[in-house]
Amino acid sequence: MLLGGAVGDALGAPVEFLLRTEILERFGPEGITSFAPAYGRLGAITDDTQMTLFTLEGLIRAALRQHHRGICHPPSVIDYAYRRWFATQCEDPSKAKDFDGWLIGVPELWSRRAPGVTCLSALADTSRAVGQAARNDSKGAGGIMRVGPIGLYVNRPFELACEAAALTHGHVTGIVAAGWFADWISEVAQGQPFVAAAEAARSRCLGRAPELDRALAGALALIPGDPAPELPRALGEGWIAEEAAAIALWCVATAADPMTALGLAVNIDGDSDTTGSLVGQVLGAAYGTSWIADSFLDDLELVGIMEILAKDAEGVFKQRVSLENPEALRRYPPG
Ligand SMILES: [Mg+2]
Repeated sequence: MLLGGAVGDALGAPVEFLLRTEILERFGPEGITSFAPAYGRLGAITDDTQMTLFTLEGLIRAALRQHHRGICHPPSVIDYAYRRWFATQCEDPSKAKDFDGWLIGVPELWSRRAPGVTCLSALADTSRAVGQAARNDSKGAGGIMRVGPIGLYVNRPFELACEAAALTHGHVTGIVAAGWFADWISEVAQGQPFVAAAEAARSRCLGRAPELDRALAGALALIPGDPAPELPRALGEGWIAEEAAAIALWCVATAADPMTALGLAVNIDGDSDTTGSLVGQVLGAAYGTSWIADSFLDDLELVGIMEILAKDAEGVFKQRVSLENPEALRRYPPG
């Protein structure tokens, strides 16, 4: 799921701020189908993947804290993880030594990749207590884009995903969209088909965010019987959470194969790296890495870091033995 999301993120990164017509002009009639340079390299991930990695780091640290201290407020532990990400965006890398845990010591993460303004301002707000919801009215896609790991590793992930998104995004639609996405990931990872999984997740947030419900209904109504060449404009551009959710659902439900789904997601007017990331995460939750060509993994940034983080998560959440491992305690200090 991490690698799939990162592939979609990196595929969309060079075209995040281009219109679809501009993408086709630059890359040809199929649009962008392989990595192109962004942020000075091929396969560069952006803030979507950075923050997803910190969400997973927070989840692992919350599990260790619960095990060793017997008390834990997971949204607070995730908030500290986001505050470490915030340091990578605003501080000099020499500040890494002021923080604990291993992830913040990864030098490549100390890089700005068009971070969301709402995320930055909410994390810069010193009046917001750790673990508390942001006081703003944003429903940008910065909440939904980073909560996939909660869907993968938390039973009934809806509430925690909502709380994790609310740390930076105060609008109910942005919050509930994150809960829906984590729930969708959870259903897909358990083997549910994409649309049935999305419907099940949608049924659990009915009445909480009418804008999200309308957007998802719109996506379901527009799923064509035949392959479609491009995203219907009615689904929006994905800068806001309910549009990103609807676009991701439409792309995976419409495409005949995974790479076509990613192509539909990134070759749009709007937030290509975020929609690519969401689609890639869902594909990864369904299929693992089987659909990702080696050529993508060869060029993708931080593959080794994502594999380490995923192995650590599997050890903690699936095997439980790592909870007692001194090395795990050093890498994920329970506080
Ligand atoms: Mg991004």
